[in-house]
Amino acid sequence: MSSIKDGIMVVLSSPSGAGKTTLAKKIAEKKKFVISISYTTRTPRSKEINGEDYYFVKKENFENLIKKSEFLEYAKVFDNYYGTSKKKVLESLKKGKSVLFDIDWQGTEQIKKQNLNFELITFFILPPSKEELLNRLSNRENNDESIIKKRMEQFEQDVLHWKDYDFVVINDNLNACFDEIINLINLKVVGKKISYDRKKIEDHIKILQV
Ligand code: 5GP
Repeated sequence: MSSIKDGIMVVLSSPSGAGKTTLAKKIAEKKKFVISISYTTRTPRSKEINGEDYYFVKKENFENLIKKSEFLEYAKVFDNYYGTSKKKVLESLKKGKSVLFDIDWQGTEQIKKQNLNFELITFFILPPSKEELLNRLSNRENNDESIIKKRMEQFEQDVLHWKDYDFVVINDNLNACFDEIINLINLKVVGKKISYDRKKIEDHIKILQV
């Protein structure tokens, strides 16, 4: 296991549009975590900044980085590649800085399998309802129906992976969800036993799958 001086790894995954990016920024600020900035071949959205939200690269560049084993994990999501730089993450962790990952279930699975010598805590964030998810996606994607449809379809697939995570949290209120995550991280880091309402989550998943 990691020594007390090493950083920890915290993963936040969720179906696209469940509000995870806002949460990630808030958590990183509170806990002084470094947010891992991913590489992607997706086109930037209007307010996104290269080097802040993502490193936006061409497909050839991304495939080159795969060949050079530069990624800690990578995956194809919605026809685009997304990946985490191995070097940057390991450098931070070894310096004692904790790292927050905003990645999907495929990347989470890859990181888990590597059994790195750093503590790993994984969270799956759920939207309060399908209607709310649709609202958030419609606002963000400027009502581009083909993208919204694709992301709603992907949601059906993503949600199946909730069981692979340490904790599942419902984002119906940003501050409450934030407090819950901070509390769970704090308890887990000190090795406290955590009581967790799994039945509530199972019921919520059933509602989302209707
Ligand atoms: P978006 O295009 O909405 O920014 O992200 C789409 C999905 O890709 C989200 O579920 C996000 O968590 C995931 N994602 C972002 N960066 C990475 C990454 O580096 N690796 C993996 N595996 N998934 C990522």
